[in-house]
Amino acid sequence: MPSREAELAANLAAVRERVAKACAAAGRSADEVTLIAVTKTFPASDVRLLAGLGVTDVAENRDQEASAKADECRDLRLTWHFVGQVQTNKARSVVSYSDVVHSVDRERLVTALSRAAVGAGRPVRCLVQVALDDAEGRGGIRADAVPDLADAVASAPGLSLGGVMAVAPLGGDPARAFARLADVAAAVQKSYPGANMISAGMSGDMEEAIACGATHVRVGTALLGGRRAIVR
Ligand SMILES: *Cc1c(COP(=O)(O)O)cnc(C)c1O
Repeated sequence: MPSREAELAANLAAVRERVAKACAAAGRSADEVTLIAVTKTFPASDVRLLAGLGVTDVAENRDQEASAKADECRDLRLTWHFVGQVQTNKARSVVSYSDVVHSVDRERLVTALSRAAVGAGRPVRCLVQVALDDAEGRGGIRADAVPDLADAVASAPGLSLGGVMAVAPLGGDPARAFARLADVAAAVQKSYPGANMISAGMSGDMEEAIACGATHVRVGTALLGGRRAIVR
């Protein structure tokens, strides 16, 4: 059996190859796209191996798991992304280890994150999560509500507006969904030129996302393997 490190190295090479091919096909440079390893349900030892292999960005989606893992990995120079729904009472904890929160979806959360970021003296970059099918469930707000929430983030002390994030709707056409996200992102950038992050694309649809301008792809399964169901 190959070592876990060899397995992760092979997966990483394959994912980097997919990103490079998708960038080439889109006429983009591969360094325009940052690979974020989504390490949820996998141990801190995997984060450490990935960091050793050159991964610079990791993401988690549950505060309890993420805070423990970030703590175990605090000697590593990594950028930590939070991509799960954030309860306002967890804002302080999430801000204590996250550099970027991708899942900002309501004003109350902006207020809570802002207060936490100021309290911790730690600036936090925030992405507005957009619901591309205008349906509840996978998180995010409707596209027409994005400008107001972007304004709220941009004017909140301790926070900076990084851009937008989305998860393609289940069963839909990811290319169409990501094209819509690109329109939303362009509208945000008109008001905030520095908010140029587009977080889109996962193991199954990173090519479509990169074709539509994604700057950050969030890849779990293709890098780390299948996740076991989380029993709560
Ligand atoms: C789990 C997760 C991912 C990674 O999904 P894979 O299909 O395993 O690559 C990306 N984004 C978010 C928000 C996630 O929760």
